[in-house]
Amino acid sequence: MTDYAPTFRPARDTAVPDGETPAATCPHCECPFRSEHARDLHVGERHEPSDGERERYEAALERERDDLWLFHAKAVVALGVIYAATVVLYMAVLGTFF
Ligand SMILES: [Zn+2]
Repeated sequence: MTDYAPTFRPARDTAVPDGETPAATCPHCECPFRSEHARDLHVGERHEPSDGERERYEAALERERDDLWLFHAKAVVALGVIYAATVVLYMAVLGTFF
């Protein structure tokens, strides 16, 4: 059986770097977070949230969906601009030879 030290925490993208003060801490497992948003998502996904915590989790989840939608919209616009620039460049290059 593996016996981890009590302070062992798996590496994760939301880990708080050394020297930085955590913005929020999980009330269930004392895990530090860089933002309350990340803490609210963690509590909702890893613990049994209270009513207030569930409300904050759902609000954080909604914000995640909005951020993802905005990212997709920006990606589609960027692809459109790259496509249009490629077509214009292609036409300019062809126009110099014919
Ligand atoms: Zn926790």
